Amino acid sequence: MLDSLGNLEKTHSCGELRESDVGKRVVLMGWVAKKRDFGIFTFIDLRDREGVTQIVVSEETAAKAHAKAKNLRGEFVIAVLGEVVSRAEGTHNQKLSTGDIEIKASELLILNEAKTTPFQLEVAGSENLASEDTRLKYRYLDLRRPQLQHNIRMRAKAVAKIREFMDARGFTEIETPILLKSTPEGARDFVVPSRIHAGKFFALPQSPQILKQITMIAGFDKYYQIARCFRDEDLRADRQPEFTQLDVEMSFANQEMVYRVIEGFFQHVFKLIDVELPENFPRMTYVEAMRRYGSDKPDLRFEMELADLSGELKDTDFAPFASILESGGEIKCVVARGKADYSRKQLDELQEFVKRYGANALAWVKLGEAETTSSLLKVLGQEKIEALARAANAAEGDAVLIVAGKKSVVAASLGALRVEIARRENLIDKNAYRPLLVTEFPMFELNDETGNYDAAHHPFTSPMDEDLEMFKRAIENEADHHLLGAVRAKAYDAVINGYECAGGSIRIHQKEIQALNFKALGLSPEKARERFGFFLDALEYGTPPHGGFAAGIERTCMILCGTENIRDVMAFPKTASAQDLMMDSPGAVDNSQLKELGIKIVE
Ligand code: ASP
Repeated sequence: MLDSLGNLEKTHSCGELRESDVGKRVVLMGWVAKKRDFGIFTFIDLRDREGVTQIVVSEETAAKAHAKAKNLRGEFVIAVLGEVVSRAEGTHNQKLSTGDIEIKASELLILNEAKTTPFQLEVAGSENLASEDTRLKYRYLDLRRPQLQHNIRMRAKAVAKIREFMDARGFTEIETPILLKSTPEGARDFVVPSRIHAGKFFALPQSPQILKQITMIAGFDKYYQIARCFRDEDLRADRQPEFTQLDVEMSFANQEMVYRVIEGFFQHVFKLIDVELPENFPRMTYVEAMRRYGSDKPDLRFEMELADLSGELKDTDFAPFASILESGGEIKCVVARGKADYSRKQLDELQEFVKRYGANALAWVKLGEAETTSSLLKVLGQEKIEALARAANAAEGDAVLIVAGKKSVVAASLGALRVEIARRENLIDKNAYRPLLVTEFPMFELNDETGNYDAAHHPFTSPMDEDLEMFKRAIENEADHHLLGAVRAKAYDAVINGYECAGGSIRIHQKEIQALNFKALGLSPEKARERFGFFLDALEYGTPPHGGFAAGIERTCMILCGTENIRDVMAFPKTASAQDLMMDSPGAVDNSQLKELGIKIVE
């Protein structure tokens, strides 16, 4: 028989009581985290969201409660009435905030029972956790773990801080619809069939991009939203099919005004973990970031910049290098400090690593105490090897790791190798927070498959004033089309510790330039009208210059919580293959439902 809660109310949480509370009569409620049976005494670790308090039930002073305690098992829900007492000398627990006291129970109510949990909730160290799939299936149990409780509540606090900041700065929170038409972020849409208009579909927003721009046309001046976005992309470790972003748009805004909001809101949010971000974030253009770090989201917590060896090798007769340089490629390297003792096996591993990013091979030079050795020794000779090491700024004891190839491949593979080595060698200061604004992103990206230029950000991003002439020329003259690849946009990202935490742009507000941009993207006027006609119409009714950004709530919270797993900051995340293991979604729907929607499933 279970006890009833009746009128009983808890007086304190399980994380709250201290030495100064000794003598108080209290009521605590929570879950049985642990029970230890010592015959005439039973000890219970009682857990709620605030912490754990030790309960002692004695056969001598509380016989009825003691008899009940005998039946308790893990995760039973109980209420305990009793007195706060000091722990006996030598039994204080420094690890618990309540470790100086315990509750001498006088009464115990069993409010509910629990089955044996499919995995152990209390484990020492995250490496001992049950498999993530099991934990996702029983998410409500996993969420009881203090770490996840902390993360989910940190997220709530972060969102509250954001609202506080945005409201104080005069931004208006405006909700935009979830049932929408395709939006322009360039991923696949999730579509929702319409019953009333059978055969037609809504699309879930990839972002509220067009609508937030329309709020500017509508005169709201400063908009924000904590917006849920949906993108049907191939998943990666730090991506989810649905995620949340702080979405912002401002009228009469230039880049500097947007940067101030980005900096300000991150500063405000990072106060949650007592981190003072700098008043002005350092800045770097996209080109510089790619050159120095091989990445547009460099982690600045460690150095290890890429060095260019192309100049040193420009006259080489080593055919593979010569032909790469001939065809506009590059030869660059990173220096692993103190790693001249890399073994063959380690170098092979690193080679496999860069191959994942498209590199053909990883060449190396090791500056040992006695001699300089290299995988290129036979083909380049001792003297050239020494010269390369000097050009790389390597010193005795270092290893130089070299990749040659197309610029994009060299950047991607060395950019990733830089981070990989920093991880392996523990070069990353876990208590450092290094923000960066990356500016002047390219306007277009050449799509290798189609040969067309795609929007690097989205099709409403404005070219830089300095590049406007080139932009027009590239569109108007067929022969200059390739110049699109060089046009820079008023587009920027905020990066913290190697994570792209925010991105945005100043938008096109003139319809002529918007039309040119669609042309550049190979979108016919008819197609553009079909997709974005309502927006093109709106542009014609007095659109103020405007711009904005979106910041990823999950990415930001991952940094605040010190986790690399995006699922650790979402209450009900999906797996890497886009399933919800707890609800077992996506799931089938009834035939009758399909019929009503006018949909047939083809095998
Ligand atoms: N809509 C963009 C995104 O979701 C952000 C922006 O340009 O404001 O990435």
